[in-house]
Amino acid sequence: MRPILLLVFAAVLAAADNAPLKVVCTTTILADLARQVGGGRVEVVSLLKPGADPHTFQPSPDDVRLIASARLVVVNGLGYEGWLDQLISAAGVSRERVVIASTGVEPMTAGAHAHADGHDHGGDQDPHAWHDAKNGMRYVANLRDAFTAADAAGTGDYAAWCDLYQAQLRVIDAWMKKQIATLPSERRVLVTSHDAMAYFARAYGLEVVPVEGITTGQEPDPARFAKLITLLRTRGVPAVFIESSANPKVVERLGTEAGARLGGVLLADSLDLPGQLGDSYLGMFAHNARTIVSALK
Ligand SMILES: [Zn+2]
Repeated sequence: MRPILLLVFAAVLAAADNAPLKVVCTTTILADLARQVGGGRVEVVSLLKPGADPHTFQPSPDDVRLIASARLVVVNGLGYEGWLDQLISAAGVSRERVVIASTGVEPMTAGAHAHADGHDHGGDQDPHAWHDAKNGMRYVANLRDAFTAADAAGTGDYAAWCDLYQAQLRVIDAWMKKQIATLPSERRVLVTSHDAMAYFARAYGLEVVPVEGITTGQEPDPARFAKLITLLRTRGVPAVFIESSANPKVVERLGTEAGARLGGVLLADSLDLPGQLGDSYLGMFAHNARTIVSALK
């Protein structure tokens, strides 16, 4: 009897050992990065669905259960997930299980642009750091370290997957610079829904003019709106952009009044639906570059 029992016990242990590391990420962007670094050793779920707005997200009881069942909870940090503290305390998740993907990234100051309406940005730091692929390299290194700490048997795999993905990020980073450089310099002006593209603009050589603040739903007051119209007209900006997770109304009205057309939908806070070009982190760059270049050239 005893050897059989031991065999059963060993089999149960082996099964537990092979179980994937359960990782819940707050956004679709983080979920893709976690899959790239974690490969078959992780099981990744995104709390937010494609197109959902992380700034205004309201967790449900199902989300509490989902977070509670995770071995690791991956968040962006930099004040992005304002609802997070409440969620993780409701789920009873300890701080050691929370991975802040942006750790070590040099944050930009929120609202470096002059906002005439003086609205609140909800913090001093701009959380949208993933729009610079070099920061993405830091994100995946942080994920590699967190996965390795939680699953030491996967150390070599996580290191290799991280290296491979960082090599792809180096390629997309250089490619993005080339794409934006095809635009005449006076056309490199990005007018978009909310203040999400400052890292992108700095990394790839654009000037960004956000219509709303660092979070969504902060409509400009009439004075700022009038200033934006003047700016668009005097600069001859041919197109303005909306975002997949933000309300398009204000940008649409601005475009109409300033005589600029709608350049398309940028992916700012979420990846696109599965099957679209922008359904991955790398694809998000390609989608945004293609949308911007074809509208502004
Ligand atoms: Zn945002």
